[in-house]
Amino acid sequence: CTRAIALSAVTLFHFRGNSAFKCFICVADPEWASYTLGVFVCLSCSGLHRNIAQISKVKSIVLDPWSSSEVEFMDSVGNNTAKAKYEQIVPAFYYKPTHRDCMLLREQWIRAKYERKEFMCVEKQEPYSAGYREGFLWKRGRDNGQYLSRKFILSEREGVLKYFNKHDAREPKAIMKINTVNATFQPTKIGTANGLQITYLKDNSTRNIFVYHEDGKEMVDWFNAIRAARFHYLQVAFPGASIADVSLSPKLTRNYIKEGYMEKTGPKHTEGFKKRWFTMDDRRLMYFKDPMDAYARGEVFIGSKENSYSVLPGLPPNIQGYHWQFGITIVTPDRKFLFTCETEGDQQDWIAALQSVIDRPMLPQEYAVEAYFKRKP
Ligand SMILES: [Zn+2]
Repeated sequence: CTRAIALSAVTLFHFRGNSAFKCFICVADPEWASYTLGVFVCLSCSGLHRNIAQISKVKSIVLDPWSSSEVEFMDSVGNNTAKAKYEQIVPAFYYKPTHRDCMLLREQWIRAKYERKEFMCVEKQEPYSAGYREGFLWKRGRDNGQYLSRKFILSEREGVLKYFNKHDAREPKAIMKINTVNATFQPTKIGTANGLQITYLKDNSTRNIFVYHEDGKEMVDWFNAIRAARFHYLQVAFPGASIADVSLSPKLTRNYIKEGYMEKTGPKHTEGFKKRWFTMDDRRLMYFKDPMDAYARGEVFIGSKENSYSVLPGLPPNIQGYHWQFGITIVTPDRKFLFTCETEGDQQDWIAALQSVIDRPMLPQEYAVEAYFKRKP
């Protein structure tokens, strides 16, 4: 029977009865479906499915006509059955994107699942599961901003990520300890869809490097290989903890809570306000002269309200000088930090970001970080 259900409203009403009626990778409402894979997707993800047209054919649930056999196919597969098939063996460390993630992560997730079928066969996971990875990435030069090809080696056994300036160099230019490494995709800041920011701690200060690979799969494989190495490290450091322990999962890699420009003044509060790029990375509020600087000019530890940290809108009344209008005062046990934002919206967003960290009680290991910041000159 191929009687077409011409009225799309009927199809939509019918599919709404499906228990798994949501976008397969997002929380967004599905308006599209892949009628060859049998999964529902949102508008944004339907565009990514069009990139693998040989595997996935999409049509609109609302606008396109559906034949009854297509509707039956959707009913017989659906998101849950497709998940059981295409996500049989997703490694615990593997990053599953949501609608908040960049295009690259979402596209490669769809390609890994349906095109390369990486989660139906462990051998295909070798590029990020082997515990060792070696290859070339374009790395931004620290001083001139030019991207040059650099050899990178990730070794789970040594617990390091390193890179070499010369192809035949014996000594690496930098050795990054995996226990301090973080990686986050930054397409806008870096200006390329595959741009990855890698940070690590050197003498307890944050260092930045910016890399990309023109092949999206290569870049996401590096990202997941870093997560795998971090997962291995955390399993050794915290024996008994499982990935199901929700506190462990965001520790593999984390995105920044907020980034953007603010103005700041110095510790005496009499210096002029200067515009700086700020990054809120967990409990570290860092500032840079340029968003892509190799290291922060300063870092402020943001503790919890139980430990006398707070954030307030506005500046103390005695503050003079030219500065942006919308002030923020951060109170720490040692001193007050004064910032200004260009718009009221920025001010509110920064206060919300800072407050989210202040409201969270400090973990035992965070007291050690706080103590380090207090010792700093
Ligand atoms: Zn989606």
